[in-house]
Amino acid sequence: MKILVLNCGSSSVKYQLFRMADESILAKGFVDQIGMDNSVLEHQAAGREKINFKVEMPDHFSAIRAVLETLIDPNYGVVRDLWEIRAVGHRIVHGGPNFSNSVLVDDKVVAELRRIIELAPLHNPAAIMGIEACHKQMPNVPMVVVFDTAFHRGMPPRNYLYGVPYKYYEKYSVRRYGFHGTSHRYVGMRAADMLGKPYEEAKTISCHLGNGASLCAIDGGRVLDTSMGFTPLAGLLMGTRCGDMDPAVVYYLMKKENLDAEGINNLLNKQSGLLGLSGVSNDIRPVTAAALAGNPRAMMAISVFVRQILHYIGAYYLELGGADSIVFTAGIGENSSLIRKKVCSQLAVIGAALDEEANLNACGETVISLPDSKVKIFVIPTNEELVIARDTLEIVYEKNMGLDRFF
Ligand code: ADP
Repeated sequence: MKILVLNCGSSSVKYQLFRMADESILAKGFVDQIGMDNSVLEHQAAGREKINFKVEMPDHFSAIRAVLETLIDPNYGVVRDLWEIRAVGHRIVHGGPNFSNSVLVDDKVVAELRRIIELAPLHNPAAIMGIEACHKQMPNVPMVVVFDTAFHRGMPPRNYLYGVPYKYYEKYSVRRYGFHGTSHRYVGMRAADMLGKPYEEAKTISCHLGNGASLCAIDGGRVLDTSMGFTPLAGLLMGTRCGDMDPAVVYYLMKKENLDAEGINNLLNKQSGLLGLSGVSNDIRPVTAAALAGNPRAMMAISVFVRQILHYIGAYYLELGGADSIVFTAGIGENSSLIRKKVCSQLAVIGAALDEEANLNACGETVISLPDSKVKIFVIPTNEELVIARDTLEIVYEKNMGLDRFF
């Protein structure tokens, strides 16, 4: 059973083809710069060299066609025929108020995705184009959509309601949604495994620290709270996003800088965060290098980032009534021993003790707390694509979409 996982962005498509028998990746790659002159497809079949092509890709339809053609190419493909791909799983950033689980794609699902485009105008239209492109090119292949928001749908109202008039929740679904749910779900399950505790009993604080970053409090497999909000702009300061601040700043800057809604949206999403504060980069590596070389703004940007992570860890520790583990994941969480050290050096008060050597040498899934640490600290590489593939398999199998032929 082979499952294709697609992550369609506004000008990119990332893909991974899984063989579900052993959950191995047969091939992966991406198409970039869709709709521009210099579209590129990068493809890597397992155990083989990466290859790059320049292909003309005016839209998502042609991008997905290029991906499918590459997967069956006699020289660098990994399947003989497209019929070998039994299902497609799509990552969807925003599931809006009504999707609390992954679901099989049908007309109603696509109609609901269209209805909520306003909630994720940058992300959901591309995902819909991806679904339509697959439907045209693989018309009988079942598709499943997996939402970044779905895992957070179990949050209690006290954690998802904002202090604006209730009618806006009713009228426009203004509330906290939370994102990175697939990643938090994956590392939450792995953390319970590493603890040797049933998932239903584990209390986990998951720190997804990438270019986009969020924390999540998971209580027995259910999300209690998370730092992103109505959009992925909320919570921690990120690569280029501002994170939490006094909302009055929005109005004030609009007036002072003569910005319209698009202008302020761009400023807070694209010019803020680590980039805006440090003036160096949105990438933590050059910011760290500049901080270590004594650049005061880079040092300050890192301090703000660390303080905000601590702010949420503290809040979630109280909300959860304690925690079994704190998990670091995603680009920064998995790779920056410095950020982990700066955060963990202030966690003694909750009984989390970092093993500095283990932290420095962490590679793959690792315990980085000392043996007697009351709260364990883990580094767990996230794997959102695998969760999407698993959900797709489960749903397609549950619905008995002719899989009897393939097992
Ligand atoms: P996203 O998926 O949100 O775009 P990633 O999870 O890939 O982001 O994380 C990107 C961040 O991870 C960047 O800030 C980058 O600097 C950081 N990162 C990646 N590799 C390393 C590394 N080896 N050391 C420190 N930081 C790293």
